[in-house]
Amino acid sequence: MLRNKAQHPKRRILIVVLVGVFFCILYLVIILSNSQGGSSPVAMPRFDVGSTISEPGQQAGVATDEPAEASSSTANQGELRPEEEPHQNQNLEAIRAELYLIEDYRPSFVHGYKGPEHQKYIVLHDTEGDALPQSVVDWWEGNGNLVAAHFVIGVDGTVVQCVPMDNIAHHAGFGNAGHNEYYGVTDESRDDRLGTVPIGSWAPDYGMNSYSIGIEMVHVGGSGYYPPAQLQALDKLIAYIDAYYGFESAIIDHKAWRTGNSDTSPEFAQYLANYQAYRSHTGA
Ligand SMILES: [Zn+2]
Repeated sequence: MLRNKAQHPKRRILIVVLVGVFFCILYLVIILSNSQGGSSPVAMPRFDVGSTISEPGQQAGVATDEPAEASSSTANQGELRPEEEPHQNQNLEAIRAELYLIEDYRPSFVHGYKGPEHQKYIVLHDTEGDALPQSVVDWWEGNGNLVAAHFVIGVDGTVVQCVPMDNIAHHAGFGNAGHNEYYGVTDESRDDRLGTVPIGSWAPDYGMNSYSIGIEMVHVGGSGYYPPAQLQALDKLIAYIDAYYGFESAIIDHKAWRTGNSDTSPEFAQYLANYQAYRSHTGA
């Protein structure tokens, strides 16, 4: 025991030196491994994290799945890419800032969910009356028909939104037999159809409501021209809708969906052609 005690100091020094050398070598190995890139165990976790970002289903087209405004809970929420929201919102908010837009949502106008994957058309209407947009919305709610468009544009360019874009509104109503197929809007299953009253066997199709945004312009057919402020507001609203979805919806008027309907009025014909070709009333 005494001899052992006498040898302890030397052994301790040796052990300390060996341990020191071991850690020095270990340190050098780690430094060299990092400098050589992804082949080392240290770099592997980074590769795994990167691979989850680009998994299937999270491609560019999905980026618009979750627009900024209030929406029903949906299965699409799992595909949200938070890192892309700020970019989309900045663009959306900049365009929206140019609109005089008032949100006045009425729950009774909502007839189901309509996500970006089901958005195809912008349908233009005339109110066939001269009431202010806010009064139009009140009248829709008061008559109990559960019929409304998403937006109403007044003659001074004021825009009232009464249905979120992610929801179905009954603005297009029934269309000609065969129009569901013609316009590619055959799935009516998301529409609760509350308040609908069939108008005849010649117009049984209801799919347009489930695939479109409706815009009413305060205008009486035959009364004359559309004021510049109203048309400029429509230009900006269409740009806003395009930015919201990240793609351009086809633009039609109501009478294209149901022949014999009066809206839009004849005096809007050239503007409609300009919107369809250039997405602005001026055609430029
Ligand atoms: Zn209409």
